[in-house]
Amino acid sequence: MDKQEWMQELKQKANQMQIILSDTKLEEFYQYMQLLQTWNEKMNLTAITDEKEILFKHFIDSLSILPYIEQANCILDVGTGAGFPGIPLKIVQEDKQITLLDALQKRITFLEEVIKTLGLSKIEAKHGRAEEFVKEKGQREGYDVVTSRAVARLSVLLEYMLPFVKVGGLCVCMKSEKITEELEEAKKAIELLGGKIQRVEEIRLPQSDMIRKIVIIQKIKNTPSKYPRKAGTPAKDPIK
Ligand code: SAM
Repeated sequence: MDKQEWMQELKQKANQMQIILSDTKLEEFYQYMQLLQTWNEKMNLTAITDEKEILFKHFIDSLSILPYIEQANCILDVGTGAGFPGIPLKIVQEDKQITLLDALQKRITFLEEVIKTLGLSKIEAKHGRAEEFVKEKGQREGYDVVTSRAVARLSVLLEYMLPFVKVGGLCVCMKSEKITEELEEAKKAIELLGGKIQRVEEIRLPQSDMIRKIVIIQKIKNTPSKYPRKAGTPAKDPIK
């Protein structure tokens, strides 16, 4: 598939989600895809390396949560890895302030290169574990929306995410189709951390059978200061 075909396909699929991508943005996505492929040869960034798969499973999938971040000014993407969903959202929503957070330094080095090459502004890539980074100035309850994809089970994930969310703000968790058991298991954590299930949306990605569940948790009160517990504890001993 050549560059023009690839950009055409991305444009079409985005159109089906009511997202209009200008030629400049299509170029940015193409550059990002190329950087991902090149860097992936020297470090493990993603198991998805085929250009068509990157287009669909990384870019289109990330853009599927665009409607849920539209009201936000300030967004954090926890466990962003190679930048998903944070970078695709940034390319499309230039005006939002986005922070990308990951526990692995090599992924942050890659993200810094992406930010520089694409000339993105109002975005920063930070190295750290969520449980530690939240202690830095301005982080606790500092975001309108916190996003995540493929980071942890909800009961663990929400202990990472909810402390960063302002009261009234949202956690947008990208999950796979089967979510019932995970949601049930996370009820206690949601309540203790100051959240409430606002809704669970089902999305079918364009021209595919791929179903996503988007779990949206609203923060209704401050997260008690004892959360998150020390780094590693949420994963080892999830709130039950
Ligand atoms: N969100 C990306 C995606 O969907 O492609 C990456 C998913 S990857 C499976 C999970 C990422 O979460 C890894 O890059 C890992 O370093 C990061 N991670 C896991 N626990 C974390 C924590 N407590 N704080 C920050 N990052 C974390």
